[in-house]
Formats: sequence, C-alpha cells, structure tokens
Amino acid sequence: MKTSPIALVTGASTGIGAVYADRFARRGHALVLVARDAQRLAALAERLRTEHGCAVEVLTADLTAADDLARVEARLQRGDIDVLVNNAGMSLKGGLIDNTPQALDQIIALNVSAPTRLCAAAGRAFLAQGRGTIINLSSVLALAPEMFEGVYSGTKAYLLNLSQALAAQWEPQGLRVQAVLPGATRTELWEKAGRDVDSFPPGFLMETGDMVDAALVGLDLGETVTLPPLPDDAQFAALQAARLAMAPNLSRSEVPARYRR
Ligand code: NAP
Repeated sequence: MKTSPIALVTGASTGIGAVYADRFARRGHALVLVARDAQRLAALAERLRTEHGCAVEVLTADLTAADDLARVEARLQRGDIDVLVNNAGMSLKGGLIDNTPQALDQIIALNVSAPTRLCAAAGRAFLAQGRGTIINLSSVLALAPEMFEGVYSGTKAYLLNLSQALAAQWEPQGLRVQAVLPGATRTELWEKAGRDVDSFPPGFLMETGDMVDAALVGLDLGETVTLPPLPDDAQFAALQAARLAMAPNLSRSEVPARYRR
C-alpha cells in the first residue's frame, strides 16, 4: 500500500536533478532517482533516506539506450508515480559543424526523444488516475536562439512547445504540466561543455538551490511556464499575448499582398 506520493526525477545524480530530488523529499515524496552514475545515485539515495526518512528507489539508466529508456517508461506505466521531472539533459561542446554525427544524435536522443517518450508514458498513467504533474527542464535559450549554437536551444524550444501543448490538452483533465526555463545555473553542465562558470560576468549565474526553489514557487502558483531569472514577468506575458493574438491569422486561404507578384 502506497503511503507517500512518488516523484521520478531523471538526471538526479547531480546538479538541478539532485536538488529537485531533495526538494521533493522535503515535500514528503518518495523518490525514484534515474541517471547513469550508480554510485552517485546510491549516495544521494542514502542521504535522502537518512535526512528525510523517505523511500528511495534507484533506477540506473542511460536514457539514450533503448532498453534502459524502456525500463524507465515501464516504471512510469506501473501507475504509482505522481510527479515526473524530465531533467536529464546535456549541451554541446562547440557548434553544429564542430560535432560528430554521433554527438548530434546523442543530444537529440537525451534532450528530445527521452523526455518525449517519458511524457507519453507518464501521461498515459496520469490520465488514467486523473492527476499527476510533469515538470520539463527547458531553458531560457528556448526564447533566445541567437545566444548559442542552436542545437541545444532547439532541443529546449522543443520541450517548451511540447509542455505548452500538453498543458493545454491535459490540464482540463486534472494534470499539471510545467516548463522550467532556467538561465545559467551553477552545475557541471558548463564544465562538460568546456565553459568555466567562474569566467561569467557578475550577476549572471544562479545557484542551483535558488533556481529549483523559484521553479517550485512557480509550480505552486500554477504556472505553465516558469522563468526563474526573469525579473519582470510582464515581459513574458507580453510575448505570450503577442503570440496568441497572432494565432487566428496563422492559417488562411488568401496569400497576403506582400507575397503576391
Ligand atoms: P548536469 O549537472 O550536467 O546534470 C545532468 C544530469 O543528467 C546528471 O544527473 C546526469 O547524470 C544526467 N544524464 C546525462 N546524460 C544522461 C543519460 N544519457 N542518461 C541518463 N541521465 C543522463 O546538468 P544540469 O545543469 O543539472 O542540467 C539539468 C537540466 O537543466 C538539463 O536538461 C539542462 O539542459 C537544463 N538547464 C541547465 C542550465 C544550467 O545553466 N545548468 C540552464 C538551463 C537549463 P549521469 O551522468 O549520472 O547520467
């Protein structure tokens, strides 16, 4: 018999995912921790059990490997999970033409295919229960493609788009879907991408705990899109309003005058 809600967090071995695991444990959730590094997951699981007295399951999986991804989908489809945090992700070293075909496939598999498949698995289970929460880690770069190489930001724009679509479809059926768009946050992601966070300008980098705590306030406020670093939320509201105002004009039989010869 299940006694606590359960949160499944991907990429829980370090960085933002490890903080989400900690925060959901503090909120009284049991955890399922997913990542590749079994040792780090075991150490975090032990700490969470000791500090919060919660049940913690470790699911060691490479989300870019078909069999491993299928095991995580099966875990979600068992029907006892309440929260999915689609957090595992990577960025690239260098630009589009600096990377091998394998590296390009890898980032799309991890940042796009895996969270898509896990959203589908969780969505099926959550819709059957009439409740459940999906949190997708996008990025502010989803809104700023000019700032980076384009592949990473493209994967994050995809997740923002997917989250907004799923929120529109599933929230009337009792589910919650939130896209979180962090700015630069102090994790190992930067070092893996060959960037030194200590070289960033002052005031540019958010601490991981602050970012996750802000994102959870956004979740509690009922936001579909949360931008932890954005000081003035009227700016994002204006972007949304402009986008939605354009919607009725986006499919017409008539060719506009500027495109007629
Ligand atoms: P991080 O410190 O590099 O952590 C990434 C996590 O993903 C690790 O737990 C890693 O664990 C896991 N992971 C990587 N490859 C995996 C794979 N093939 N299968 C399963 N798990 C895998 O990165 P982070 O900064 O915390 O990033 C978390 C999310 O936030 C990402 O989606 C990222 O794009 C997003 N984000 C980060 C920032 C930032 O500035 N840090 C800004 C905006 C958005 P293992 O190595 O153990 O597998």
